[in-house]
Amino acid sequence: MKEYRPDTLCIHAGYQPKNGEPRVAPIVQSTTYTYDSSKEMGDLFDLQAEGFFYTRIGNPTNDVVEKKIAALEGGVGALLTSSGQAASLMSVLNICKAGDHMVSSSAIYGGTYNLFYKTLKEMGVDVTFVPPDVTWQELKDAMRPNTRCVFAETLSNPALVVADLEMFADAAHTGGVPLIVDNTFPTPVNCRPFEFGADIVVHSTTKYMDGHAVQVGGVIVDSGNFNWENGKFPELTQPDESYHGVVYTKQFGKAAYITKCRVHLMRDIGAQAAPMNAFLLNLGLETLALRMERHCENALQVARALEKDPRISWVNFPGLESSSYYTLAQKYLPHGSSGVVSFGIKGGREAATRFMDSLELASVVTHVADLRTCVLHPASTTHRQLSDAQLKEAGVPADLIRLSVGVENVQDILDDIFAALDKAVK
Ligand SMILES: *Cc1c(COP(=O)(O)O)cnc(C)c1O
Repeated sequence: MKEYRPDTLCIHAGYQPKNGEPRVAPIVQSTTYTYDSSKEMGDLFDLQAEGFFYTRIGNPTNDVVEKKIAALEGGVGALLTSSGQAASLMSVLNICKAGDHMVSSSAIYGGTYNLFYKTLKEMGVDVTFVPPDVTWQELKDAMRPNTRCVFAETLSNPALVVADLEMFADAAHTGGVPLIVDNTFPTPVNCRPFEFGADIVVHSTTKYMDGHAVQVGGVIVDSGNFNWENGKFPELTQPDESYHGVVYTKQFGKAAYITKCRVHLMRDIGAQAAPMNAFLLNLGLETLALRMERHCENALQVARALEKDPRISWVNFPGLESSSYYTLAQKYLPHGSSGVVSFGIKGGREAATRFMDSLELASVVTHVADLRTCVLHPASTTHRQLSDAQLKEAGVPADLIRLSVGVENVQDILDDIFAALDKAVK
């Protein structure tokens, strides 16, 4: 496809119908695909030919969406997963096994924190958490001979910490390992981490990419830039016995990582996205650029208004000059960060609860990054498994309210917030 700009790619990338074909990428609701001979089928199983043979490994609808997201991020390939959690897990498992080690920023989504802290550790992958404002040297020092990757979130959920991607990438590369970045909140419309040295990007597509709260999904995107042949990644450079000795870097070149992720991990784990969900995700992606612009505009107005109100104890939004991440946000998120604003209300937990209960337009949901304005108190919901110390480490104080500003008329959003504040703080 021609080198279109992101807003055009949102609509057209991944699918260019030929003469007489459906204008809209169809839902291929089929598990299997027929071939004229068992020889052709055998070649597919041996990875000697390209084509669909079973929907766990690949599906034409999913393929359209994978190509679109790869184009948006500027990568060589992508793989849809059943959830953002599956994407984070598989992005790491593709290159980490028991006995290996990884380093992660502690300013990450609560679910990812638990995945690394508990499940990966139980699986034998040791994880060192570093504070998000870690220096290059500290990050480098956290790495060990058996470190296999570094993980960070471009704009963390819900702390809204902006990661210094270039610094993270440089430290990771000096240690000979890739940087994996969760880019869920900014989306490729606001930040393309590959341009700053990240090697792998993951998303929860459940959030802005979908935008309408109709499917849970994830995606892994490969930049194609990392040199896997530096001696640290035998799973990509040595023969895979489960595929008659295929060597991924030899056979698939720049797409070695994402191909292994699909044909090995997805084959074995089976956390694939349903074609129906891929179709719904694609509808969301078509308006992603439009929606992100409005989310960012609305959120900036809300953040500015909250900041002026004496009943608010603090406001965190990377687009505010008062934010400690303003400079990093100007560098990595010049078009806006996302629609998410966090703040604390004077009067602590009780006032926060009264505020949430008094909102009419904004709904209280365990969701974020939706076109409908919604609100959440992480300490009593998404992050409730974390101790106070872990909450602090993740940058989520107990009084934090996470407001996900939608694309409604901004005056209606502001009216709702200030009417609820009037009720919450007397
Ligand atoms: C929601 C979220 C996830 C997990 O995604 P699911 O689709 O809910 O599994 C991962 N990372 C970030 C930043 C998220 O916001």
